[in-house]
Amino acid sequence: MNEPIEHRYSLTDHCCRHCLGRVLVRYDTFICSVCEVESRGSPSGICACGMTSAKGDGLPAALRSAYRCGINPAPSVINPARIVVLYGGQVAQPLGGP
Ligand SMILES: [Zn+2]
Ligand SMILES: [Zn+2]
Repeated sequence: MNEPIEHRYSLTDHCCRHCLGRVLVRYDTFICSVCEVESRGSPSGICACGMTSAKGDGLPAALRSAYRCGINPAPSVINPARIVVLYGGQVAQPLGGP
């Protein structure tokens, strides 16, 4: 592939809520690198940050939105992924951080 660099997708610090694949970004389009679901403008349509569950519908919004993408605090053989779904704490940098 000889696409100019600005046409390529870059990694974000977000993971797909469906398959936990890494979310990529190009312009304003966010896409899962594994199952290819897409979101426009923000990764929250497909990543764990915007995740709500049917079970959580009766909970306060602060609790329902406590799931988020983040850097794996303890990578291991069992879970070597750099970006994982975390509960609580700070939200991941929207575009991969500094
Ligand atoms: Zn996916
Ligand atoms: Zn996210």
